[in-house]
Amino acid sequence: MAVTIKSKSEIEKMRKAGHILALVQEEMAKHVKPGISTWELDKIGEQKIRELGATPSFLHLYGFPASICISVNDRVVHGIPSKQEILQDGDIVSLDAGVNYQGYHSDAARTVPCGTVSAEAQRLIDVTRQSFFEGIRFATAGNHLYDISAAIEDYVVAHGYSCVRDLVGHGIGSQVHEDPQIPNFRQKRRGIRLAAGMTLAVEPMVNEGRYDVCVLDDDWTVVTDDGLLSAHYENTILITDGEPEILSILK
Ligand code: MG
Repeated sequence: MAVTIKSKSEIEKMRKAGHILALVQEEMAKHVKPGISTWELDKIGEQKIRELGATPSFLHLYGFPASICISVNDRVVHGIPSKQEILQDGDIVSLDAGVNYQGYHSDAARTVPCGTVSAEAQRLIDVTRQSFFEGIRFATAGNHLYDISAAIEDYVVAHGYSCVRDLVGHGIGSQVHEDPQIPNFRQKRRGIRLAAGMTLAVEPMVNEGRYDVCVLDDDWTVVTDDGLLSAHYENTILITDGEPEILSILK
């Protein structure tokens, strides 16, 4: 599948989808507190998405049973919200959500501290977030896609962590997952040349220990092999001739 270049009107819808998602992420983060269940967080996110005139992209996507992927501590991504999973003081909570606005999607993830977290856990959250910004310094028309991948990995490895290899970022638009795939680690080649109008979901998944992951028996939840922490940070961006426009943060 070719990488699509979005038209002005498509970009307008994606901007709106991104803005809604930024508001949804802000709302969910406010409720990350000891004692709340991940099921309740999912409902808060879904309700906010619908209130803002959109629908949750992840609900039933490939059969996923909820609106928000919620992945606590050693969970990397694709955690299924549950009434039995109650957040504890010191947890780190990755909230990954997608918004469909008039047929166009945005996708973003944040890792949020629950109560008081250890300095080590906070450092993992901060390095993961910053690795996204290090990567997108290269996200400009004319540059090559895998320059983003290399910049993310270099920053993460320099801080003593590793980038998950089994899961990658992706193009996004009328489908949640479009070409190209965007690895978060150095590739042998430089990849496709970026062009204005491409829309990408760049999403480093960073492990405290080794990069190896496995999938739990629920066939969804991805966890670190070594049981150490993992964090996730993602935004939907628009490639331009200058700096990329980050569609899923509040401006
Ligand atoms: Mg994504």
